[in-house]
Amino acid sequence: MRVLIVSDIHSNFTALEAVLQDAGAIDEVWCLGDIVGYGPDPNQVIERLRGLPNLQCIAGNHDAGVLDQIPLSAFNPDAAKAVVWTARVLSKDNRAFLESLPSSKPASTVVTLAHASPRDPVWEYVADQYTAELSFRVLATPHAFVGHTHVQRTFTLLQDDQVRIDTPAAVTPVVFAGRTLANPGSVGQPRDRNPLSAYAIFDPERNTWEPRRIAYDIPAVQKRIIKLGLPDRHAVRLSAGW
Ligand code: ZN
Repeated sequence: MRVLIVSDIHSNFTALEAVLQDAGAIDEVWCLGDIVGYGPDPNQVIERLRGLPNLQCIAGNHDAGVLDQIPLSAFNPDAAKAVVWTARVLSKDNRAFLESLPSSKPASTVVTLAHASPRDPVWEYVADQYTAELSFRVLATPHAFVGHTHVQRTFTLLQDDQVRIDTPAAVTPVVFAGRTLANPGSVGQPRDRNPLSAYAIFDPERNTWEPRRIAYDIPAVQKRIIKLGLPDRHAVRLSAGW
């Protein structure tokens, strides 16, 4: 069984389409939030997601910002501009879809989905061992899949309660070695100085996690960002991966 794990698409339809092509046949899709924000294609991205088979989806902080559930002052000025623009152009149906999403949910008996962290699904960055350890303490399932940092990484709770952090060295499936917090990276705005779009394939039967990176047409997305009058910064960062 192949479950496509996507996060932080951020209104980048070109990257999402490239991921779907690269992923091949999939049985389910689990989406970890920040569907919109920053990028130029909020409606296209939501509509494409809604058409995918067996979708389970949660909302991220940018989705909540667009719905006015988080104050604009919580975002940096350029991110806030995209939040305001997205709220203006979003169709009624797509807005209703975002409104229907929880901020975290169990996707199965073994995996919880949370945009940021299991402790704080909206804001907390799981980027170090300490935060990961605190997350394991409150996590009701063996594993959690999280996004928000835009960096592909896994955090494994070892026998001695230490947390091991792994960055993927190659595109090879790894078997979870213990309780794991897994981040597929960002489809639409990677931030590890690698501009390739990031996602993962999870196989619940084999208990494997396969982090993947693929190229997409970045200049096409940058052109749309500039044409729509969204901040230049959102275009520049895509080719540098920050
Ligand atoms: Zn994000």
